[in-house]
Amino acid sequence: MSLATKHNTLIPGLGEMSELIRKKNWARTPIGTPDQWPQSLLTSLSILLYGKFPMLLMWGPELICFYNDAFRPSLGSDGKHPSILGQPAEKAWAEVWHIIKPLLDQVLTGGESIWQEDQLVPIFRNGKIEEAYWTFSYSAVLDESAEIAGVLVTCSETTAKINLVKELEASIREVSQGEHIRGRMAAIVESSDDAIISKTFEGIVTSWNKSAERIFGYTPEEMIGQSITKLIPDDRLDEEPKIIEGLKQGKRFDHFETKRITKNKQILDISLTISPVRDASGKLIGAAKIARDITAQKQTEKLVKASEEKFRLLADSMPQFVWTGDEYGNLNYINKKVQTYSGLTLAQIEADGWLQFIHPEDLEENIKRWQRAKLTGEEFLLEHRFRRHDGVFRWYLSRAVPQKDERGKITMWVGTSTDIDDIKKHEQQKDDFIRIASHELKTPVTTIKGYVQLLLDLHKDQKESPVASSLNKVYKQVNKLTKLIADLLDLTRIETGRLQLDRHHYPLSRIIDEVITDIGPTGGRHRIEVLLLDDPIVYVDKERFEQVLVNLITNAVKYSPNAEKVILKVERQDQQALISLTDFGIGIAADDAEKIFERFYRVEGKDEKKFPGFGIGLFIVREIVELHDGKVWVASELKKGSTFYVSLPVN
Ligand code: ADP
Repeated sequence: MSLATKHNTLIPGLGEMSELIRKKNWARTPIGTPDQWPQSLLTSLSILLYGKFPMLLMWGPELICFYNDAFRPSLGSDGKHPSILGQPAEKAWAEVWHIIKPLLDQVLTGGESIWQEDQLVPIFRNGKIEEAYWTFSYSAVLDESAEIAGVLVTCSETTAKINLVKELEASIREVSQGEHIRGRMAAIVESSDDAIISKTFEGIVTSWNKSAERIFGYTPEEMIGQSITKLIPDDRLDEEPKIIEGLKQGKRFDHFETKRITKNKQILDISLTISPVRDASGKLIGAAKIARDITAQKQTEKLVKASEEKFRLLADSMPQFVWTGDEYGNLNYINKKVQTYSGLTLAQIEADGWLQFIHPEDLEENIKRWQRAKLTGEEFLLEHRFRRHDGVFRWYLSRAVPQKDERGKITMWVGTSTDIDDIKKHEQQKDDFIRIASHELKTPVTTIKGYVQLLLDLHKDQKESPVASSLNKVYKQVNKLTKLIADLLDLTRIETGRLQLDRHHYPLSRIIDEVITDIGPTGGRHRIEVLLLDDPIVYVDKERFEQVLVNLITNAVKYSPNAEKVILKVERQDQQALISLTDFGIGIAADDAEKIFERFYRVEGKDEKKFPGFGIGLFIVREIVELHDGKVWVASELKKGSTFYVSLPVN
């Protein structure tokens, strides 16, 4: 007897779903009543309804739903059961259609079977959408003509398993996080450079890290369970009860500086941060202490303080003004001398700065140079007058030097001002003397020169006579004297700004010819080699410019006694006429190369001592060249020789 016959119907099975299928009025569904169903559907249903594994069948173009008793629990109550029986899948599974549809298409069009594990497919059940996980397979069911007529879904819900896994994962995470934090805390405590100690209110040590051992010399075994007073020097013992009292009131101590004693009786400077510790119920049970060894820092502070005091003492005992400024040049220190000199209070100077007691005539230059120094980071150098408390102005030489860090950024300014008033006065007296003396000497020397010339004329027929030769010697010396007086007069003219030029245009070659003729045999055994690479027209005071060349050539000859020639070269470079004069003499050290153009500057070497001179020739040369808008400079090597360059603009 067939099973179907046994149950007296086309639909097999004794379960709830078999019953429901048999009872359902299929006439109004697209697949019609069971007697119209194809054998393939009936066969599939028998597999479904006898099966103990949860199964769902979707049949026909509308994908009409059937499911078995094993499937039923996953539909819950107050949901799809039993309404989805006989419903098209799209309607039955409306809330997850977007998930199911692509899977069904894969099966229906491609004939593929699908297997997915622990997929989240939410479902409407128990009156709400519930998150549910499923492991399922979708496979095609063929009809009699071997066409795909339906999809069989075998599935089992894995929500409970997944939730368990999730819970497990969460608790593992929690545990490991806790452990992680505890682990990190322990690592921090151990690797800290500070001593981290905990103790009870009775002062009994309960934990002691590596740095505590390193700083105080005691091992954890020697300290844990022991009194903290082991570390406290006798004269500090009274601190402890006060701290404990504070801690008991929940107070925290930050950077409390004190002294502690190590195992080998060394006294350390210690900075303490102490906080009260509570148990889980919030009850105060002891204290945690971070102790930092600041002995080295304190020593450095002491040294810095001592050296600062030393600096102040030094600065205050100096006759100079000494000051420092921040990176922007704002005053942050001045020594006592500034106050005693100016009669101003520290507050007045700090508020209104230096300018309030600088001579009004020097103000503009002072401001200009200070601005430039701040802008360029170059040193500030100026001679200016400061008003004394009694209203008298005195000359000072001020210098301010920027201190820079390794990246070249200014960190501070250090300035000094030195009283040069007496020097200035002496200089003035000397200048006055030179001016008067040269002026007074000029007339008698010119008169002497005139008479000597006259006498030489009278003896021109007796050149070999002792009188004539003596007269010649006198004439030479008088000439030297005339030149010196002329130089001194030029010097005073320059100083008083009275050196006037009478400029005209000349080819440079003409000036050079005249100079060479003038110098004549005074060049001694030296040959003057002239290289005219160009002949620019220059706009000069002929007499003054000749004076420049004569001075340079005389020096070249004078300072190269063993050489045989000097080379005078003229060329043109851009808009400049460039004259160079090369000698092969004693040369000039690099340090002196700039200074030789200063007034009265003479190089002080044993070579130079052999040569007479006053150190004013090059000063006059530079002044004259600069009055012509030109430049003069030297390139030289000791014992090899020098080349002096003069450049003049040509237009
Ligand atoms: P002086 O009267 O001493 O020659 P100058 O002003 O002409 O004065 O020169 C200044 C100094 O420069 C000289 O004392 C000398 O030391 C140095 N000097 C000038 N010209 C030369 C040169 N051609 N070779 C070496 N040293 C020179």
